[in-house]
Amino acid sequence: MPIYTYRHSQENPDCQHSPNFDFEQVARDLPLTVCPWCGKPVVREISAPLVKVKNFDCELRDKGFTKLVRVDDGIYENKTRRAGEEKYVDRRRPETLPRFEKTIED
Ligand SMILES: [Zn+2]
Repeated sequence: MPIYTYRHSQENPDCQHSPNFDFEQVARDLPLTVCPWCGKPVVREISAPLVKVKNFDCELRDKGFTKLVRVDDGIYENKTRRAGEEKYVDRRRPETLPRFEKTIED
């Protein structure tokens, strides 16, 4: 199930889940309007649910895409890492580059 992040409309020092909490729910469920613990108004953060993002990277990989996310100067995390590939790609080290020749097949 996707995990959504909710934020209290006003910080509530009495609620241990303030200001933000994560809540797992079915995507078609209506968003929460109040905190399940203190009953004060909450709003759902606009962001892709965590589970969904993870699946999306797997989907990309299954479709033959490679996704690199920059983490530092010249360093990229390979989000669609396949067997035998490095987790981090270093621009200065060609051996860490994704193995396209293993991805391409017909
Ligand atoms: Zn609360």
